Amino acid sequence: MIQLYIPLGFLGVLYREIKQGLTDLEKMFTLMEREREIADVPGALALKLNGAASPHPNPLPQGEGITPLTPATVPDLPPLPEGEGRGEGHTNASVSFQHVHFAYDPARPILHDISFEIPAGKTVAVVGPSGSGKSTLARLLFRFYDVQQGQIQIAGQDIKQVTQASVRAVIGIVPQDTVLFNDTVEYNIAYGRPGASRAEVEAAAKAAHIHNFIAATPKGYDTMVGERGLKLSGGEKQRVAIARTLLKNPPILIFDEATSALDSANERAIQAELQSVAQNKTTLVIAHRLSTVVDAHEILVMEAGTILERGTHAALLAANGRYAQMWALQQSVE
Ligand code: ATP
Repeated sequence: MIQLYIPLGFLGVLYREIKQGLTDLEKMFTLMEREREIADVPGALALKLNGAASPHPNPLPQGEGITPLTPATVPDLPPLPEGEGRGEGHTNASVSFQHVHFAYDPARPILHDISFEIPAGKTVAVVGPSGSGKSTLARLLFRFYDVQQGQIQIAGQDIKQVTQASVRAVIGIVPQDTVLFNDTVEYNIAYGRPGASRAEVEAAAKAAHIHNFIAATPKGYDTMVGERGLKLSGGEKQRVAIARTLLKNPPILIFDEATSALDSANERAIQAELQSVAQNKTTLVIAHRLSTVVDAHEILVMEAGTILERGTHAALLAANGRYAQMWALQQSVE
């Protein structure tokens, strides 16, 4: 009986390993499929900010929830050079969408003639109903896809003409739903900057207010997270993403605000942390709560792939249009 038991137990483990392996492979192929959709032009150079080439490319997104990532898809990257190509000194990291048209499927256009600018160090917020194209703007800026008409520029350079990796190296994403790797807490945070020291990881975790939570677990930063390890709440995952972004310290940020899962105290705390991370960075915020956007340089109100209204909070309220309606509705709910 015992003899039978051991091999069966072993088979169970083997089954789980194979199943996990297949899931990882599946995700890897999904990613490769996505990667194939865009290719660098022959001889493409790296994006340049302030006259210097962007830092060592971190070619994969930071598990930003737009594309699933697994450890299997993460190449071994050498440490990024200290400080180089990061937030400091990159005063020219402006973002510009110029007459952008985009369709995932040629039969169904999604974005129609989108133009806006995010001056270096400023924040532009995008609001609008579900399906209006807000996340698509973020995907295009991160160059998951190339635009079909018009262009997107970073620091005056068409992102289609430079390497995809160099574009991603200067952008940090704090997604709605962070994908964590089946690895340690330390690995998951250090993914923002492979090669970061434990002290740097801890400093980022402290700034993202996740350190105390990690320190209270028996294995601390060596705790395994993910499907087979410690499960983190939505807010905790978002804090891991903030810590990653703090470590990466990119000049451009994309925040995709969570629609749910956070209680309001937690949400306000995270919003405050995001705001401090965004200080002096060129930021695109996909906002679900209008309270987040009041200080934005410009607010874009999207509807069905077009910009219906645009302006500052005060100007949009004065215009008494769709934004003013949304604001009144949200105030009454809150
Ligand atoms: P939400 O607030 O719900 O996140 P959104 O405004 O961010 O919505 P997008 O995710 O940009 O909307 O989607 C815009 C449109 O593009 C939707 O109609 C959606 O169905 C479609 N879409 C999104 N991703 C894909 C894809 N990978 N392939 C085909 N169509 C897609």
